[in-house]
Amino acid sequence: MNLAFIGLGNMGAPMAGNLARAGHHVAGFDPAAPVPDGVRHAPGAAEAARDAEVVLTMLPDGAILRAVAAQILPAMRPGAVLCDCSTVDVDSARAVAAEAAAAGIDALDAPVSGGTVGAAAGTLTFMVGGSDAGVATVTPLLDIMGQRVVHCGGAGAGQAAKICNNMILGVTMIATCEAFALADRLGLDRARLYDVVSTSSGQSWSATSYCPAPGVGPQSPADNGYRPGFAAELMLKDLRLSQQAAEAVDADTPMGARAAELYAQFVESEDGRGRDFSAMLPRFTSRRRA
Ligand code: NAD
Repeated sequence: MNLAFIGLGNMGAPMAGNLARAGHHVAGFDPAAPVPDGVRHAPGAAEAARDAEVVLTMLPDGAILRAVAAQILPAMRPGAVLCDCSTVDVDSARAVAAEAAAAGIDALDAPVSGGTVGAAAGTLTFMVGGSDAGVATVTPLLDIMGQRVVHCGGAGAGQAAKICNNMILGVTMIATCEAFALADRLGLDRARLYDVVSTSSGQSWSATSYCPAPGVGPQSPADNGYRPGFAAELMLKDLRLSQQAAEAVDADTPMGARAAELYAQFVESEDGRGRDFSAMLPRFTSRRRA
């Protein structure tokens, strides 16, 4: 297929590279990052999008997505599909979908989980919002970049699924780190706590698969000096999006709100920036009861 890929940063570059390696013709644009091997450099976003059957975007936030959409929608062929893989606010995803529909273009929100490792390996999970026809068009492409595609509903449903999932993740990681820090003070061995929690009702992906305690459970960023993995500032971004959405629809999310506050403090006033989000554990062990 003729494809365009706009936003070739840490995630976009390996995703675009995988599409090119699979034999697709990919035109790429990013004002600040080089195009990966096999991707043709386009001088601008509109130029990249002009001949594409599917335009993929992987951008920092909703404001930038809206700006890029305003540039590319007038240039895109009617019947083409815009597939945004960025993590953005639900309102921006829905606004872009509505503008696209007015231009005769099908727009999908398809945020990912799996991080830069999954982007390079082609093992991402895509959570997709949009029409059945649009999802059918892009699924062969998503299958190259990932290993699982979940069609979550109409426009915005992919972003909604992503922020709900990551709100659970942020809250359970904090709860897991608190519990390990409490266990330390109680003189309970971390490995024994893991043995209990990972087979009991306190288990979660945070505790069992991504244990924040070094040397306990399967390999995780904790075993690598808390190098990300999934950086604390990205968790903060997703928690803030969850709270923005909760406010917009008047949903009561007190644990999500508290998790957003704690990650904001960790990233902005402590040493959390650039560390994995599980580095909340050394944060808690180094503190006393507030
Ligand atoms: P990044 O900052 O490395 O890449 C974003 C790219 O967008 C940059 O290269 C930037 O130059 C480019 N860009 C900015 N404005 C542009 C414009 N007007 N036109 C074209 N390109 C433009 O970020 P990333 O880590 O690749 O993340 C991209 C998205 O994926 C974000 O929404 C992020 O939340 C999400 N995400 C990231 C991860 C991760 O682990 N990095 C995991 C899941 C989801």
